Amino acid sequence: MKYIYGPVKSRRLGLSLGLSLTPYKICDFDCIYCQLGKTVDLTPQRQEFIKIEDILNEFKSWLQNNPGGAKELDYVTISGSGEPTLNIKIGELIREIKKSASCRIAVITNASLLSDPQLRLELKTADLIVPSLDTVIPEIFQQIDRPHQNIKIGQVIDGLVSLRKEFSGKIWLEIMLVAGVNDDLRQIRKLKEVVDRINPDKIQLNSPVRSTCEPGLLPVDKGKLDKIRGILGEKCEII
Ligand code: SF4
Repeated sequence: MKYIYGPVKSRRLGLSLGLSLTPYKICDFDCIYCQLGKTVDLTPQRQEFIKIEDILNEFKSWLQNNPGGAKELDYVTISGSGEPTLNIKIGELIREIKKSASCRIAVITNASLLSDPQLRLELKTADLIVPSLDTVIPEIFQQIDRPHQNIKIGQVIDGLVSLRKEFSGKIWLEIMLVAGVNDDLRQIRKLKEVVDRINPDKIQLNSPVRSTCEPGLLPVDKGKLDKIRGILGEKCEII
């Protein structure tokens, strides 16, 4: 299989079958903590990077080879080795998967393109969206996520706020914390103000433990993670 991986069991999503919608490391971010390595093509230009028809054919053959397998899945998860919302046919893929199998669909995204109303419409039939927001401070956004020059943090925040208004499924906001980069408690309080506006169903704190794009990054220690969780409130959990 080229575009399907798993199913894998994860604490966050349960038993999940992954679908990749872009070739390796096509992304509009080049996060310092990315576990996949450096971004190969830093682009915010949406296109059909991988033909949806090819992904669907693989999915259908997985269903045929695993009768009853779809019922055991907690999610079919759209993520992969780049930013999945860059694939302009993501909405069609979600619709077609829902037609072929009764399964819940999760989309993991860096949230960069959510200010586009068309994309939000395409994501409407998903069940769960897991967007990232690592900081609300422009300089730190540049430092940690290293976005394409056309992506500004204000537009990412606006997109997340609009998503919450329009999307009736669950939103679990992920925050990746890197020691000494975005874990300062004053900036976490600013982040909290924005998170309150977004009003996700859950806030999940993560910190890099595996090999990262930039060497030498340190995870945030447990004591500080607990303090940050305290600031972000009861919906927040450490994953
Ligand atoms: S958004 Fe995701 S895929 Fe893109 S660089 Fe960041 S961690 Fe890697």
